[in-house]
Amino acid sequence: MEREPLVDGHGRRIADLRVSVTDRCNFRCQYCMPAEGLQWVSREEVLSFEEIERIVSLLVQMGIEDVRLTGGEPLVRREFPRLVSMLAAIDGLGDLSLTTNGYLLERDAGALAAAGIDRLNVSIDSLQRDRFFQMTRRDALPQVLRGLEAAARQPGLRPVKVNVVAIRGFTESEAIPFAEFARERGFEVRFIEFMPLDGDSAWTADQVLPGEELRAIINAVYPIEELPREPSATARVFRFADSARGESAAGGQIGFIDPVSEPFCADCNRIRLTADGRLRTCLFSLHETDLRGPMRAGAPDDELELLVREAVWRKELKHRVGEEGFRRPARSMSAIGG
Ligand code: SAM
Ligand code: SF4
Repeated sequence: MEREPLVDGHGRRIADLRVSVTDRCNFRCQYCMPAEGLQWVSREEVLSFEEIERIVSLLVQMGIEDVRLTGGEPLVRREFPRLVSMLAAIDGLGDLSLTTNGYLLERDAGALAAAGIDRLNVSIDSLQRDRFFQMTRRDALPQVLRGLEAAARQPGLRPVKVNVVAIRGFTESEAIPFAEFARERGFEVRFIEFMPLDGDSAWTADQVLPGEELRAIINAVYPIEELPREPSATARVFRFADSARGESAAGGQIGFIDPVSEPFCADCNRIRLTADGRLRTCLFSLHETDLRGPMRAGAPDDELELLVREAVWRKELKHRVGEEGFRRPARSMSAIGG
């Protein structure tokens, strides 16, 4: 069944949905979660697989084309590949992707590809074991790299991307090793500017390492050239100039997601569903729309559609990070679903 496309009050057509399948995580990244964890959402409050499937199906009927599964750490959710196969079977869904910390990927990569994940991003902030531990509070780099390689061995999971949160004073020295990693392994390594969504509320503007600086560090050693930007893409993507000229076999790409220094809100086409069934129209939304309550009270699809449409109509024009009066949302990244 097809429904009217989802359009917000600023004329943006909404086509991308991020679904958080759990707020729990086996890591405690400095920029995301406090060392002691957070107050987890109780099991009854978390959407069941059937509830997630119902909402995603409805949103696909309203023009959502791409769905990314995230968290928390999606792979800690029990029987997660079963949810993937349920969503992959939804008629009209164009692309089903996953963001993971990779810790359980060695175990799950085959099952995820078989269940219908099209591509995935693995988050890795350092290629040095001690620095990885410092950032994630887990001594897990070898395990994560094995997971990444397990994913890369699955022909159905392409492209494999690596997400690196860029933090001033930490990531500058990681830029060249990650560029070499991208060249050698053919991955797209994407640097993401640190946003004020950390669980410790310790973010300050001077910890943001702008993409521009990382671009300059990499370009000085391995010249890069920008590729045309896809509409509504969050990343500016570059390839290596020597591989473009055929002078080197080096593959790989480098992406920069710069929401703080170069916001890309103008053509944002994304909405988010939290693990406890709230619809969020911006990472930085101060307001959420509960879909779980009405759904469990027996609301038919037409009623849920109306709730979604009203929420999307009020989608924020832009985030206000860096502006006077900016207020952080109550939830931090792991509880929103990054
Ligand atoms: N646990 C999975 C992972 O780490 O890939 C999925 C969820 S995580 C919240 C999604 C992405 O958000 C990760 O790439 C992570 O590095 C990024 N992230 C978390 N907190 C962030 C912050 N404060 N600023 C920028 N990116 C952040
Ligand atoms: Fe967990 Fe991902 Fe947040 Fe790290 S970034 S604490 S892996 S949810």
